[in-house]
Amino acid sequence: MKHDAVQPNRRSMARRQSDSARRYLDLEATTPALRSTVELAARTVGFAIAQLNVLDEDTQYTLVNIGGPPVSTIERSSTLCDDVVRSEKPAVVARNRVDATVRQRNILDQVGVSAYASVPLRGREGLVIGTLCLLDRMPRDFSTGQFQELEQFASILEEQLDLHRRVGSTPTKLDSDHDLAGALYAGQIVPWFQSIVDLRTKEIIGFEALARWHHPTRGLVSPADFVPFAESSELIIDVDLEVLRQSVKEADAWHEVRPELRLSVNLSGRHLAHPDAVTQLQSAVAASGVPARLISLELTETTSVNDGPLIRRHIEDVHALGFRVLLDDFGSGWSSLERLVTLEPDGIKIDSHLTRFVDTVRGRALLRALAGVAQDLKMSLIIEGIETREQADIAVDLGCTMAQGFLWSRPQSAGAVRRMLGVPR
Ligand code: C2E
Ligand code: MG
Ligand code: MG
Repeated sequence: MKHDAVQPNRRSMARRQSDSARRYLDLEATTPALRSTVELAARTVGFAIAQLNVLDEDTQYTLVNIGGPPVSTIERSSTLCDDVVRSEKPAVVARNRVDATVRQRNILDQVGVSAYASVPLRGREGLVIGTLCLLDRMPRDFSTGQFQELEQFASILEEQLDLHRRVGSTPTKLDSDHDLAGALYAGQIVPWFQSIVDLRTKEIIGFEALARWHHPTRGLVSPADFVPFAESSELIIDVDLEVLRQSVKEADAWHEVRPELRLSVNLSGRHLAHPDAVTQLQSAVAASGVPARLISLELTETTSVNDGPLIRRHIEDVHALGFRVLLDDFGSGWSSLERLVTLEPDGIKIDSHLTRFVDTVRGRALLRALAGVAQDLKMSLIIEGIETREQADIAVDLGCTMAQGFLWSRPQSAGAVRRMLGVPR
């Protein structure tokens, strides 16, 4: 009896820990400031390798990696820091002391590391979200003074992470298209997923795939820091197709438990203007069991592109294959009222910049009008960027039917979505 009571409690604790940790991933927390702190910790305490790791339920994300072999993500259960996060206690393996578990010592033996010191990092929710850890291939002594220094660096990192949560992070600068091409080749561009909900029933009806770059040293990089760059060349086509290929695999897995879940992917206008766009899209999906009717292509653009006859023909062709086409970021940037007429999309996604105004008279008038247009033209309408219950209630009153936003979920890793849906392993 007692056992049964403890288990769910532990599970919900693990889930809360994981949710808290993921908030740090979404902030693309690797800024030069965090990197400098980790680097300084390695140098001051005198270890060759230092890492800032964030751990969610399944995965360890190395946000900063100084001196270690390139690594971005690794299954949590195979890591040394798993025990530190679970026990919320530091661990040290050195010539003169061992405060680590047997499992940790075994892993160290396997990976050829002779010294290890790791301290837990607490996030804003008061839960342990990751570790600052030091590693060395050489056997080392570890003094109480060194341990105190490590703890001091950990508390500096906690403050820096907290600051990033509050004010956001500075963008990562791409050095060249070579970086991104290499990342695609190395499988570092992966989709994360944000749920799309039916505003009336609050049920999840699908997910939007959002590209993330698991950079081996910079950590999790947001699309804002590489998609505009990719759109300046044909690299965006590779990004879109890579995200689509991986996403349909995930959708295939979701369909084991929820066969009607939809998948939305972003497609740059530049991509759709490419002569081979339709064939490429068709073959990216063909390998999966996901029918095109369950896939929406969200047309986005951060640079201007000419939506001439070729784009229009391609939209007709993808329609014929069964895909739905949505105009993304409606109300800002590329999506204009004119395109509702010229491109004849199946739906629009209201940009979160407009959503911010739902509590103003003008914002409400505009949204009500757009909801009316969508209804008249039998288009779907998804309102993005819903963060509060009040915004959701106003959106329902104005006639919006579907929504996306932090109120329900932030973008999550593929593993997290599978777990949430209860997809069998
Ligand atoms: P988008 O397609 O309009 O995606 C929605 C963005 O809004 C996502 O940002 C999402 O994390 C964010 N968001 C969702 N709910 C909320 C909320 O309640 N509040 C706020 N403040 N933001 C919210 P993300 O993931 O950074 O993506 C940014 C943009 O990058 C996307 O905007 C899309 O235009 C582009 N993008 C992402 N993945 C791809 C891709 O695979 N291909 C192309 N071509 N573009 C992509
Ligand atoms: Mg989108
Ligand atoms: Mg959008």
